[in-house]
Amino acid sequence: MSRPSTSIPALRPRFWERFPLTKLTQPEWEALCDGCGKCCLNKLEDADTGEVFFTRIACRLLDDATCRCSNYEGRKAIVPECVVLTPSTLKDISYWMPKSCAYRRLNEGRGLADWHPLVSGDPESVHRAGISVRGQTLGEFEVPEDDWEDHIIDEEL
Ligand code: SF4
Ligand code: SF4
Repeated sequence: MSRPSTSIPALRPRFWERFPLTKLTQPEWEALCDGCGKCCLNKLEDADTGEVFFTRIACRLLDDATCRCSNYEGRKAIVPECVVLTPSTLKDISYWMPKSCAYRRLNEGRGLADWHPLVSGDPESVHRAGISVRGQTLGEFEVPEDDWEDHIIDEEL
């Protein structure tokens, strides 16, 4: 779900504090993505408990340097399992999204953090704050799937 960084179209001032997620324009919805890249990490689910674990193994389309999808427009043809995040899908998938994710934060009434690019005015702030996965991922073709368990991220995302 990590979208390419594009020039920011006209957004209503502090729209994330003034309007519910269902009332945002498409550019506003897209601008909420902080570019952390965490949701593009492959996950493992415990079959018994349903608990979801993030790994450092990134989706084949994640650019580790920018933390953005390298083919956002064409991604569904290449990665059919890529989840399309919308206000209606958010409520069902929010539980496994990273706790830092702007969509999850707003869905839980926690607001945006001060490192969020919309708040700081700087797309680099998410990286400087150590929130993103920049430079920390492994490619999914570099590691056999049977070994992904060895790359589970222990700390809370
Ligand atoms: S295709 Fe992969 S990199 Fe692109 S948005 Fe989906 S999960 Fe992220
Ligand atoms: S976890 Fe949330 S904020 Fe981070 S890249 Fe994915 S959708 Fe964007």
